[in-house]
Amino acid sequence: VAKRLEGKTVVITGASSGIGKSTAFEFARTAPKNLKLVLTARRIDTLKQIAADIVAEVGEGVKVLPVQLDVSKPEEVKAFVGNLPEEYRDINVLVNNAGLVKGLARAPEIAEEDINIMFNTNVTGLINMTQAILPIFKKRPEGGAGDIINVGSIAGREPYPGGSIYCATKAAVRSFTDALRKELIATRIRVMEIDPGQVETEFSVVRFYGDKAKADAVYEGCEPLTPDDIAEVVVFVAGRRENVVIADTLIFPSHQA
Ligand code: NDP
Repeated sequence: VAKRLEGKTVVITGASSGIGKSTAFEFARTAPKNLKLVLTARRIDTLKQIAADIVAEVGEGVKVLPVQLDVSKPEEVKAFVGNLPEEYRDINVLVNNAGLVKGLARAPEIAEEDINIMFNTNVTGLINMTQAILPIFKKRPEGGAGDIINVGSIAGREPYPGGSIYCATKAAVRSFTDALRKELIATRIRVMEIDPGQVETEFSVVRFYGDKAKADAVYEGCEPLTPDDIAEVVVFVAGRRENVVIADTLIFPSHQA
């Protein structure tokens, strides 16, 4: 796997915490030679610290570039590739991980602002990132090469009361991913989705607008997955032989089955 990932450039959205942050570390630990990581999120200071921590752990064989990027802002996404230093532009892997849930309310009560932020981040942000990076993949021989790894959710498959908007965003991610994979059939561009179940991250805290007590209550009586559990799968699918497409992975803790 290390050999296959050697020399690759990997872009991760939502790399400032949770699954995205773990995925950055996992790529660096797995392929510590000549890997280039572009870590993006809104919290640039956190990204800078993560970049420094990665290099401190695995050494300078991995180059890490923190980039402030709000995926819900189309103009920022459009400018993203062009603003990268030349040596980071030959992107091989895009991990579309940035996402959030805001407010758990019955459909009629959901605030318009929360609807917009969830769709603009989880769906439009992911689509815009994909459109920004696909031309780089398509320039490669045989119809193109590169990996798009979309982080969906079990919520996209099993909608629940109170989660209608979040579930709808993740169902949209699933449809987009499937359609894109079919559009790119017979190229070496792999379009893959990983759908986590319950994972303990800042996700719940964001969901309850920063109320940590409410967030912790989500995990009461169960043992959620760790972000590393998901990160290992992300790196696993990216590290397969080019012809192997692990299209769709559902991963949840045993209590959730
Ligand atoms: P976290 O809240 O820990 O991480 C979310 C990341 O997304 C942060 O790095 C945040 O960074 C980033 N982000 C949020 N909004 C934006 C934006 N507009 N632009 C750029 N980055 C943004 O949660 P997780 O690690 O759990 O979530 C990662 C993904 O996993 C999400 O897509 C989520 O839906 C999915 N997921 C999570 C599950 C769970 O139980 N935790 C279950 C199933 C799926 P910043 O605030 O710095 O911008």
